[in-house]
Amino acid sequence: MSLISEMVCVQCGSGHAPGTAMTCPTCGPDEGILEIRFDLNRARSTLTLDTLRSRTLSHWRYRELLPLDASHCPQDGHIGWTPLIESPRLAQALGVRRLWLKDDGRNASGSFKDRASSVGVAHAMQLGFSTIACASTGNAASSLAHCAAAAGLQANIFVSRIIPDGKLAQLLAYGARVFKIEGTYADAYDLCTRACRELGWYNRNCAINPYLVEGKKTGGMELAEQLRDDPPDWVACSVGDGCSIAGVHKGFVEMHDIGITDWTPSMLGVQAEHVAPIADAVHSGQLDRSGDGDTYADSINVPVPRNWRKAVNAVTRSNGAYVRVSDEQIKRAVRETGQLTGVFAEPAAAAAVAGVAEAVASGVVDRDASVVAMITGNGLKDIRGAIDAVGQPFVIPPDLKHVHDIVQQSASQDHANTRT
Ligand SMILES: *Cc1c(COP(=O)(O)O)cnc(C)c1O
Repeated sequence: MSLISEMVCVQCGSGHAPGTAMTCPTCGPDEGILEIRFDLNRARSTLTLDTLRSRTLSHWRYRELLPLDASHCPQDGHIGWTPLIESPRLAQALGVRRLWLKDDGRNASGSFKDRASSVGVAHAMQLGFSTIACASTGNAASSLAHCAAAAGLQANIFVSRIIPDGKLAQLLAYGARVFKIEGTYADAYDLCTRACRELGWYNRNCAINPYLVEGKKTGGMELAEQLRDDPPDWVACSVGDGCSIAGVHKGFVEMHDIGITDWTPSMLGVQAEHVAPIADAVHSGQLDRSGDGDTYADSINVPVPRNWRKAVNAVTRSNGAYVRVSDEQIKRAVRETGQLTGVFAEPAAAAAVAGVAEAVASGVVDRDASVVAMITGNGLKDIRGAIDAVGQPFVIPPDLKHVHDIVQQSASQDHANTRT
């Protein structure tokens, strides 16, 4: 048995027995998102610093706090326990005292979503499903396709037209059945939900499926463990549907509540300038569903987020804040992250870094702060987005003279730059 004690509706607060529903029967699937609560007293008796020492270096190390029966909790080690990279040069460029990157682009399919998909696939298998589905702007899908292929399940994926080629190639390579919807992400999402209902597929869609957030939670749990003696003031996370920041925050809270840490950080939610419905909802307490803005960071291009309430709560309960960043700021962050740390971030991942700069500039985060930026996806997933940000190579004939010319030009440019 898992240690789930109950499922609580984030809208009306009603409690439900585990396993009885995916969403609150009273509030419905749009607003009645459930949150899983665990028996933390039982968890704390076996999930300790001591037992953690001998466990697998993957997100399965937190099995007491995962929503899976012990016999269905895998033990393999290719997802999670991603590197935490201290980045002093990027810290200086952003204007903070200390900065770490949590490089989740190094997960099996190259994104943070692997934490959720792997839990979804294990949960589907526990329930006896053989087919699983999701709607996604990209990473949730490529991640699900990977986890399904690894476990031998069939995956059905609903994508919108804005999916970058790298992510689409992953889906097809992992053998998923791909439906490319002539419509928006919202259309793809609704179609997937209906297909799951009618065809009896397991629905991986993160917002309405509370089990998935539990996988994302492990990002926060790992940070709690990795930085136990070095607490960060802020953890920056880019926000689309809102499940990632909600999950990471829940991970910190639970690690605190079972006594592994005596701190929790403030969450910095980062949204794109023109697609910021959750940042707006923090003040209004309501979601404006009419948004039609756009951003080049496809993974956070979510005008109608499903998990907005959990994402709002993560920030307000942690004394955090939301900031908005422009596409230009995101592109700059792609460049600086690559150049100053050697981490190649996809646009939505670099948005977290851009958010740190913006939060410092607007006085939300102070210069003495220590900050973690969640790098949620690998830059190779969206090559066109990357090239947009980092520019073009020097195209020259095979002649050394041109190399000299360009080296000289760069040197005088650097010289000019250091004087201004
Ligand atoms: C999904 C995703 C996010 C945002 O996560 P949400 O749960 O949608 O808020 C951020 N970055 C990347 C790379 C993602 O794939």
